[in-house]
This record gives sequence, structure tokens and C-alpha cells, in this order.
Amino acid sequence: MQLRGTGVGSGIAVGTVVRMADPLPEPPDRRSEADPETELERARASLAATAADLTARGSAAGGAAKDVLEAQALMAADPSLATEVETRVRAGSTAERAVFDAFVGYRDMLAGMGGYLAERAPDLDDVSQRVRAHLAGVPAPGVPAPGHPFVLVAGDLSPADTAALDLDQVLAVVTAEGGPTSHTAILAREKSIVAVVGAAGAVDLADGDLVVVDAGADAVIASPDGEELADAERRIAARAARAAAPVEPGRLSDGTPVPLLANLGSADGAAEAVRLGAEGVGLFRTEFVFLDADVAPTVDEQRAEYARLLEAFPGRKVVVRVLDAGADKPLSFVNDDDEPNPALGLRGIRALRAAEQVLRDQLTALARAASETDAELQVMAPMVATVEETRYFVALARELGIGVAGVMVETPAAALIADRVLAVADFASIGTNDLTQYTMAADRLLGSVAALQDPWHPAVLRLIGEVGEAGAEAGRPVGICGEAAADPLLALVLVGLGATSLSMSPSALGDVRASLREFDRADVAGLAREALAAEGAAEARAAVRAAVEAMRADRGPGSLNQAR
Ligand code: PEP
Ligand code: MG
Repeated sequence: MQLRGTGVGSGIAVGTVVRMADPLPEPPDRRSEADPETELERARASLAATAADLTARGSAAGGAAKDVLEAQALMAADPSLATEVETRVRAGSTAERAVFDAFVGYRDMLAGMGGYLAERAPDLDDVSQRVRAHLAGVPAPGVPAPGHPFVLVAGDLSPADTAALDLDQVLAVVTAEGGPTSHTAILAREKSIVAVVGAAGAVDLADGDLVVVDAGADAVIASPDGEELADAERRIAARAARAAAPVEPGRLSDGTPVPLLANLGSADGAAEAVRLGAEGVGLFRTEFVFLDADVAPTVDEQRAEYARLLEAFPGRKVVVRVLDAGADKPLSFVNDDDEPNPALGLRGIRALRAAEQVLRDQLTALARAASETDAELQVMAPMVATVEETRYFVALARELGIGVAGVMVETPAAALIADRVLAVADFASIGTNDLTQYTMAADRLLGSVAALQDPWHPAVLRLIGEVGEAGAEAGRPVGICGEAAADPLLALVLVGLGATSLSMSPSALGDVRASLREFDRADVAGLAREALAAEGAAEARAAVRAAVEAMRADRGPGSLNQAR
């Protein structure tokens, strides 16, 4: 039996199911016989203890988990929620019931807002459970510890649970709920946990069931037969062998080079990227470095940060994107407008033009950092839609001493006039996350339209093909730096469409490298044609998967170096 969900990454695991314990039951709705002041004290103490516990777990976990757990701690410490609890206790509720009702009220409000905010609603349920467990003096419901490696199956995992997963014991995670932007998916991606989220059928899995969790195929196979098991074991072994193999430059089987680069949001990740074989940096997201800043960082502060990055890549290409402020990544020193549709507003290069000194300072800092190191600095502008914006950015970069300046192709407009854009820019780098968002008119933050946010859609691929062709004609490089480049199967199509380099989170480099080495230029061009001819995203993916499998079968086991 196959359950469908949303895979996180492209890992695969086999193991037996252990289900997460059931949540605490709803407390009875009856009048409290205790003194309201005593009940109130109990409730306040448990709220405070839960907030402190979540903060401590966040500090221990670090990374993205820290932010999520700190946000949960803030929920437990929220003064208006405490007032709700107080009102209910004074009206005669027990502390348990008052906490339950107050959290349910907030939860429903968030859920009603839809999309990204609605995906945070389960976090409130988890905090409510933790506060009530503290009130009852019982351990908070959490991840089981059966004493052997297992596949964890849950309705949804709380951030606290995901952050604390023992990676030696948890082979994979399957949740019935949650979308691609849910906290479980975010944290699983960061910790490289094999996961399939939003697999509604997971509620039917029982303790002890054997399952194959195949994140790359968005599937969980329950009670696999001998062939399915053998296939999964073979792929797990192939993945392990790839991870252990010495890292080499990206290329197709005929030797065509396809440099594999890293996407980074901080210089801290540079050493790990180099270890995993990054041949340079294809996207440095500078806005991540300054997300918490209230005022624009000085030229010198920026220079120091950029130099730290560039030093890690002597002799290598490092593409730095100037601040992509706005929409999902607002910076208070750039964006001050309240816009009804921020993704369509003053973001990226538009916002920087409106605050030109910020852009000038950033380019100046970058030029200075480059002059101190041996890296080959290139800069690019986000959210470009016109040739005029391209000309503006390239001229400014050159004026401030940076020789190579390109643009990101993230809008359909830029893709459709890529020939004219590339007559001005030194290179193009396709941001498939935004290009998909704008082509499909589907907000990348909204779980409710996540199914449309699929870069396999032939409309998106056709635009990428336009840019590839324009690049080939102009003799200018066309990189890909959106999440699509990290999908080993889609990476083949992207190269077939004319991408000359691929940039991704460093953890994806191994799988993509192995995938490219199986096929030559003619093969990937054929795969691109298959994908372009498909009716929709699912059909494109299925057609390319089938074609890849047929080519592998034709060539026999000796040629296999299978990425998926
Ligand atoms: C993209 O849009 O694909 C991209 C790489 O930029 P970001 O995800 O930072 O918007
Ligand atoms: Mg983008």
C-alpha cells in the first residue's frame, strides 16, 4: 500500500513504525471547587515553567529549531493569553480547563487566517499540551524511545519534539499533517532527516508495521513486498556510497562540466559547503545576515562579513546577491511601506533603488572585501523585471569597482526577454522559487496553494528554457539557484534546458552530482523535451522518471550510479 505526502529532501529509509503517544485528553468542563487564586497561581506557574522549558530546549537545539522554539516560548508567555486564562479561572474554570479553552481560542483564530499562519496553529496545541502536562505533574507527550531504531509516525510533530529527535534512533519521520512550510518540514530539512509530511493515510499505520519512507517520491510504502524492499535497500546503499565517495567537480557522463555551487545565508556554512564539494558559491543571500538589523549595517561591518565568506573560496567563483529585502524577508532599514501585496511590491532591486545609498554601500563593501581576498566575486540583483533595471544595476556595480554583474531571473518578464537582459548582464541566475511563485500566481508562503508551487510545471520549465537558449546564443552563463536545482531528477532537466551551473543547499550536492554523472548532453536534452511536452507538473515528473528508468534499464547494471 502506498501513502502519498510531501517528501522533504530526497532521502529514503526502511524501518518499523512506532507511533507517537496520544495527546492528553480534553479536561472536563466543570466548575472548579478550588480557590480561584490558588488555581490562578498554578496556571501562571505552569505557563512560566513551560516558557522556560521551551527556551532552554531552543538554546540546546540551536539553528532553525531555536527560532521555532523561542516563538513557542513566547506563546506560553503571551500576556493576552494569560489574561484569557485568568478571566476563565475567575469565572469558575479549573486551571486545566482555562488553559485548554484559552489556547483553543487562539488556535482557532490562527487557523482561520489560513496559509502560513494556519500552519503555526498546531504549535499552540503543543504548548497547551505542555502546560497541562505540567499542571498534572506528568511528562509532556513526546517522542517514544523503544530502544531500537524506528520510523516515527505522528499526527504532527511539535517543534520541540523535532528539535530533540535522536538521529541515531529515528530513521525517518512520517506525519499525517503539515505542509512543505510546516515546522516539521523546515527542521527535518535542516537536520537532513528523511521525512514525508502531510501523508493523510499515516493515521492507519500501526506500531510494528514495516515501511519504506521515500521522500524523493513523496511516498510511504506500507508492508513493502520483497522487490520494493530490495530496491529501497539498494538505493540506501548507493546513497551511503555516494556520501562516502571523494567529491569531484560536477559534470555529465560525457565530461561536460556543470559546476555545482552552494547556496549560503551566512559565512558560517562555508567550511561545510567546501567539505561537501561546493565548487564555489552560486547564491549568497545577504539579507539573511542582516535580518535582525534595525539600521543599515556600515560599509565596514559588511566588508568584514563578506571577506569572511570570500576567504573560504580562494580562486573560486562567489556570487553574492545584493539585499533581497521585502515580501517574506522584510528589512526594517529598507522596507517601510505597508503593502497589500508585498510579493508584488517594492522588493529586491525595486526596494534598493528606492534606497540607493544602501545599495551603494553594499556594493562598495563587496568590492573592498574582494580586493582583500583571492575569490572571484560576482554580484547579482534580485527580482529584476526590465532591461532598464538590468542596465541600472550593472552600471552601478561597475562604477563601484565590481567587474562581473548579473541578474536573477525570478519574474516571467525577465525570462521572456532574457535575450535582451543578457545583452546587458554578464550572466543570469534563475531563482526557481520566485519564478514558480510568479508564473503560477501561487504565494510561496501559503500551504493552501503549495500544490501549485511546483517548478516541474511545464510553464515554469518553458520559461527556464527561454533563458537557457538566450544564454547559449549570447555566450553567457545561466545558473540555477532555486530549490529546483537540489532535486536530482529535475537537475537533469534544468541542464537539458540550458543551465550551465547549479547552486543548492550543500547537503543536496552529493545526490545531484551522482545524478548528472549518469547522463550525457543528448540524454538531458531528451529529458527536457519530455518534461516540456507534459501536461502538468506531476506528468512531467512522471515522464522524466520513467525515461530515466528506461535509460538505466537499457544500459544495464554496470552503468548504474542511481541518484533515485
Ligand atoms: C529563488 O527565488 O529561487 C531564490 C533563489 O531566491 P530566494 O529563495 O532567496 O527568494
Ligand atoms: Mg527569490
